[in-house]
Amino acid sequence: MTDLLPITLPTVGLAGCFIDGEWFTPKASLEVENPSRREVITEVGRGGAPEIDAAVAAARRALPGWRTLPAAERGAMLGELARRLDEHHEEVARLLAAETGNVIRTQSRGETGGAAGVLRYFSGVAVEQKGEVLPFGSDLFSYSTREPIGVVGSIIPWNSPLQLGCGKISMALATGNTLVLKPAEDAPLAILRLTELAADLFPPGVLNVVTGLGEEAGAALAAHPGVDKLSFTGSSEVGFAVARQAADRLAHATLELGGKSPCIVFPDAASPERLRTTAQAIVNAMRFARQGQSCTAGSRLFVHRDVWEPVMAAVVEITDAMVVGDALDEAADIGAIINAERYAEVRAHVAEAEQAGAEFLTGATPAPVDEAPAFQPVPTVIVGVDNSWRISREEVFGPVMVAIPWDDEADVIDMANDTHYGLAAFIFSHDIDTVMRVSSALEAGWIWVNDGGGQIPGMSYGGVKQSGVGREYSIEGALEAYTTRKSVTMRLRG
Ligand code: NAD
Repeated sequence: MTDLLPITLPTVGLAGCFIDGEWFTPKASLEVENPSRREVITEVGRGGAPEIDAAVAAARRALPGWRTLPAAERGAMLGELARRLDEHHEEVARLLAAETGNVIRTQSRGETGGAAGVLRYFSGVAVEQKGEVLPFGSDLFSYSTREPIGVVGSIIPWNSPLQLGCGKISMALATGNTLVLKPAEDAPLAILRLTELAADLFPPGVLNVVTGLGEEAGAALAAHPGVDKLSFTGSSEVGFAVARQAADRLAHATLELGGKSPCIVFPDAASPERLRTTAQAIVNAMRFARQGQSCTAGSRLFVHRDVWEPVMAAVVEITDAMVVGDALDEAADIGAIINAERYAEVRAHVAEAEQAGAEFLTGATPAPVDEAPAFQPVPTVIVGVDNSWRISREEVFGPVMVAIPWDDEADVIDMANDTHYGLAAFIFSHDIDTVMRVSSALEAGWIWVNDGGGQIPGMSYGGVKQSGVGREYSIEGALEAYTTRKSVTMRLRG
């Protein structure tokens, strides 16, 4: 272990709530823990229904001025926020590492840069909120505009809080909506620091942040009659509850939920000259460096039986070389699971598979919570299971991959699609016909071919089946998800 990097806490941001351009400290507070060390970092204000009420009212008041501002001006403010985030990149990245357990070198610096990239992308494309003119003849002039939906309520999880927070802020604000953002209780610090950086940037009430628990602030935001659109990223269980709240009052909703994404390896991708690159991309797709705590993790690996041995050997070799450590240790590749509850869930999944006879190519059932000095399970590759096991079907949200051999393309496509999820998929083949055929057959919102990278601003991102509804991350997705069309038809009397 090298010396651990120090962090600088937000100052006024520890109040927890930013409402109508002012910081506000609720009576209650919540502790934010560092999962790498199992110690409290600090306390922040814990907002609830009264703070959500105040934030929604502020967002409503700010709406008329914000929605009529030229789109280029809204975009320019997002660009300035990106610049400020870049200026404070290292400081924010360290906060993010401390609170999420996502290590500084492989994860948190990249996420901070990526978050600024999302703001910058939407800063540029804000002006693309265009309408259409309809060909109704010379007597009628009919056009449509893209109108903001109104007050948006966004709820985000802890696994990529800054990237997701910047995405929600960008999409809502670029399109002329005002926003109430509810960060995850486990990881609000980077978002609060970002809010400090944004505090004097937008008119009061345009961006409001209420930190709090899911069942308090989150539930109050989802149920609030003054929220016109909900944008939720998190677990399927809570996503379904949020969707029901939206349906009750016919509010718009975008849901980005869980996944159990397949990763399919064809023999040609494991030729001697390609083996290492393919295996590295499989490990990247699995998001081992993020402890597998990614909705898009390629956690079901299907390898053609002809290349099973070399592929699995290379995956294990690369995985075993990764260093598990403190998120603020420059030497670490992999960090910690977010909290005791999630760690215990990961452990239960692996223990159940072990008891049922699964084999471990690497890794093991993690130690019980009381015996773990940090929530740091080693990356684990499980074989000897089929696609029907619970470990193969449920989102473990930990560093746990199941690997299953296959012989026939139709069978592997069936196995890949035999899930209620449909977020991402990964295909490894250099045969164009295979790639096109399999991409077309897979039920997933996003497919990577011959790589295991992350989302890139500009791609319309979201899931099919129970992985979600709606697309985000691109101007097309944001226009569909954050605006409505208004048609205006004029009788011309020449
Ligand atoms: P979670 O659903 O427990 O929490 C997400 C957010 O919802 C948090 O802010 C939480 O406070 C809030 N919340 C909890 N209960 C609530 C309620 N009753 N009403 C309103 N809000 C409530 O999810 P998590 O554990 O923070 O995140 C992990 C999950 O998120 C995984 O399932 C993962 O796949 C998913 N995820 C999806 C994407 C995607 O883009 N599809 C991205 C990241 C994470």
